[in-house]
Amino acid sequence: MKITYLLNSGFAVELGQSLLIFDDYQDPARVVEHLLQTRERGQVYFFASHSHFDHFNGDALARFAPHVTRYFLSNDIKRVRRAAALPKERVTWLDPYSGWKDEHMEVTSYSSTDLGTSFRVVTAEGTIFHAGDFNWWDWLGDTHENRQLAENAFRKQMRRMEGMEADVAFFPVDGRLEASKTKGAKAFCAATRVRSLVTMHNVGYPRVELPPDFFMPGREIPVWSPVSPGETKELVFLDKKGEFR
Ligand SMILES: [Zn+2]
Repeated sequence: MKITYLLNSGFAVELGQSLLIFDDYQDPARVVEHLLQTRERGQVYFFASHSHFDHFNGDALARFAPHVTRYFLSNDIKRVRRAAALPKERVTWLDPYSGWKDEHMEVTSYSSTDLGTSFRVVTAEGTIFHAGDFNWWDWLGDTHENRQLAENAFRKQMRRMEGMEADVAFFPVDGRLEASKTKGAKAFCAATRVRSLVTMHNVGYPRVELPPDFFMPGREIPVWSPVSPGETKELVFLDKKGEFR
């Protein structure tokens, strides 16, 4: 599985049979364009977790339509004017907790603590979780009540993901949350069975350094925290141990 960072929460995931693109709103290194031009075969799937400008860009997605097998879009995106430019017959609209499946792939959506959905995608070559803006949005300067609401919303959603398995999870570790920035990802890794982590939603901040107590003892998994658009890693699993190369 080869993963390339686009920007913010945007990633390209290359599998042998298919190419998955998540939350492509800006792609300064023109990764997607290059991949679509050079790939010779296979399905191409685009995912957008919600309509916020830093996750969805209708013009960018419409431009690639001739190459796209299917778009999976969170239902709130219907309200965005530019969504109408996408080929309707190839768009699957997803509410939280809904699903889609064919002989190649299975997609399940979860709710977000922000707008829209997160996605779990099962393919024969691996399982991917992309959180969208699902996170423990613990803003330090906020009121006690609001911080409690954010925690409750996060924990409520987290219970529905308990024990979830994925080969790789993309999860926000947002520098704006200061001392709380790794809280959500930490709780997520503790509650699920994900085998590797890619941090995201951290534009303008230095490469993420996770605190030493981030993982529960014995539950360490490989982590990649990209910062530069176009950065690429290959995710491999050898003897059940994963590695980003
Ligand atoms: Zn966002």
